[in-house]
Amino acid sequence: MDLAEKIESLPAEPGVYLFKNERGKVLYVGKAQNLRSRVRSYFAAGGDGRPQVPHLVERARDVEVLVLPTVKDALLLENELIKRHRPVFNVRLRDDKQYLVLRLDPGEAWPRLQLVRRFADDGASYFGPYTSSAAMYESLANLRKLFPLRSCTEGTFRDHVRRGRPCIEYEMKRCAGPCCGLVTEQEYASLVHGTTLFLRGRSQELRDELRDAMRRAAAEERFEDAARLRDRIEAVERTVERQQVVSGRAVSRDVFGVAREGGEVELQVLAVRDGRLVGTASHAFSEVALDDGALLASFLGQYYAGAGPDLPAEVLTPAPVEDEGALEALLRERAGRGVRIHAPQRGPGRELVELAATNARLALERRLEARESVDAALSELKDRLGLARLPRRVECYDVSTLQGSLAVASRVVFEDGRPRKADYRRYRIRQAAAGDDYDCLREVMRRRLDRVESEPLPDLLVVDGGRGQLAVVVAALRDRGLQVDALGIAKERDEASPSPRVKRSGGLKAERVFLPGRKDPVALPADSRGLLLLQRVRDEAHRFAIEFQRSLRHRAGLTSVLEEIPGVGPGKRRALLRTLGSLRAVREASVEQLAAVPGLSARDAAMIRAFFDGLDARGAGPPLEPAPPELDAGLSVEAAAAETAAAEAGAAAAIAAGEAGASARGVAGEAGRERAAEPASDADAARGGRAQEATREDAGGEARAPGGRPDA
Ligand code: SF4
Repeated sequence: MDLAEKIESLPAEPGVYLFKNERGKVLYVGKAQNLRSRVRSYFAAGGDGRPQVPHLVERARDVEVLVLPTVKDALLLENELIKRHRPVFNVRLRDDKQYLVLRLDPGEAWPRLQLVRRFADDGASYFGPYTSSAAMYESLANLRKLFPLRSCTEGTFRDHVRRGRPCIEYEMKRCAGPCCGLVTEQEYASLVHGTTLFLRGRSQELRDELRDAMRRAAAEERFEDAARLRDRIEAVERTVERQQVVSGRAVSRDVFGVAREGGEVELQVLAVRDGRLVGTASHAFSEVALDDGALLASFLGQYYAGAGPDLPAEVLTPAPVEDEGALEALLRERAGRGVRIHAPQRGPGRELVELAATNARLALERRLEARESVDAALSELKDRLGLARLPRRVECYDVSTLQGSLAVASRVVFEDGRPRKADYRRYRIRQAAAGDDYDCLREVMRRRLDRVESEPLPDLLVVDGGRGQLAVVVAALRDRGLQVDALGIAKERDEASPSPRVKRSGGLKAERVFLPGRKDPVALPADSRGLLLLQRVRDEAHRFAIEFQRSLRHRAGLTSVLEEIPGVGPGKRRALLRTLGSLRAVREASVEQLAAVPGLSARDAAMIRAFFDGLDARGAGPPLEPAPPELDAGLSVEAAAAETAAAEAGAAAAIAAGEAGASARGVAGEAGRERAAEPASDADAARGGRAQEATREDAGGEARAPGGRPDA
């Protein structure tokens, strides 16, 4: 059946259609209320007026459809298919795992704000998504001053209940201290309520409620409470004053603006709540062939696909959105009320759309300028180093060992001067001697070049090191008959330099770039754009290797500590971790909780408790006592705690699965074990996504970066 016949036989029902090229590659995914008439419209004489259609039709050789009950279902499937196939004619939003959301679960005894990456239909309230983590941390820090909800994990909370004293968060007035009965349930509930109103942007309602509460407290002669409420009202007012008023009406809207330059598109979102601008985010796309209507349909479908109920009353767009009915149906279902999508032509709504477009234009200009500067850096490298090709795609390798042990290596990839984290890899050195840098690098190169068929070589291979390291890379390429530019970058060592700056940096001074077949390194000027780019790439590889090594070290320590407890063999260790979920939970468990673990006697429980109490008393440091989250400010520490929890859980899962030799040797030696890693507890699970991904490894010993694809 040829394409024309196929189109005529399509069902006139809602669903998703996929245009494919002659090799079966998906070019475009769309949704329609009526599949037959929509697909037919692409092939109508003269097209349907949309600029992308002739290009698409020219390349399309096949169409596949999936019939669905409603166009709203089609919208959800369309998003999934766009993520899966990455069609060239669709715009693709960043992976939604990169968005951050605040979660507040009123079902918890003492609710707290958690940083999570996904909405879930679990009865909790969700706020966001925040596309800028900096903006999120800032609003969170402000919020804690206004409404001091606890920020600790369940384990830390229990720990402080046991100790009978609050942590430093209480001293710093960032927590009301529920762990030690320093706040009543009623007061705490009012803090939770205030937080919810504030995050929903209902600041006027919040201020009114606080004022009422203050008056009541004053009338009842609870003067301390009244003073506290007065301070809170002032703090809320100060915060609200800083938010720009962009609308005379106290209405909540998401406003979208678009700027274009050829195929480059910038899409700006303004989040307006109660008439005030509470957040902005910019989204960049390249090689876009869609007109505004199709672009917005594709973008908004993905943007709102994972949305929770915290939706505005209106969505304003610069042009009518294709199939807006499907999106409205989806938003209505999520919000539990109507959400209007429209493209205002005049009035305050139009002004807001234009404001968003102006911001989009500025962001686009900045991006294009930055790209020009990257192009200049790449050209400079090509010319000055005599490279065969413009180094658009660069791979950089770094080997790291810990005093001759725990050898690891990293690979980072930069494309057009920007890191491509999905292509990062971590290597555990399996065969080479840990102390032999060259041998380790040889092993990494062998493993990399084994995969050259599925992963073509980049334009430039960079190694962190000098002539020796470069020689290893060049030999590996030569042995396989491969040709690609390669270089080494290393700092020149000058122990004798009188310069205080050089001394401060441990005797290291200028960067030197080593090229194959050249005895002397090339000295690029310190302010060379090309050199700065190479440094950035090398530093990133170094950071990535160190991070991996640190996590292995930490897990090794976490895993081995249970082995130290007398009388606790592998069976009991498994039972402990399986029942309590993480090493931290074991450490914090009471004797009664330990005794309730199947297979443990009261004597075992007492022994384990005494063991950990002894370590606490001796002030034993990490990993038994990871830095408590309360010692630091902000959620960056929570992220660290999530990583710790995920690492603990990795160890827990590994032991529970009976795989762990439970030693540093065991952890370093057996790849694949960490695949069992799960977040440590319900509390950490939601936050653990990033850490969990970061610790996952493939059976070959390479690990992927968050969002990355594992080596096979
Ligand atoms: S954050 Fe600190 S003071 Fe607040 S509940 Fe948790 S442990 Fe207690």
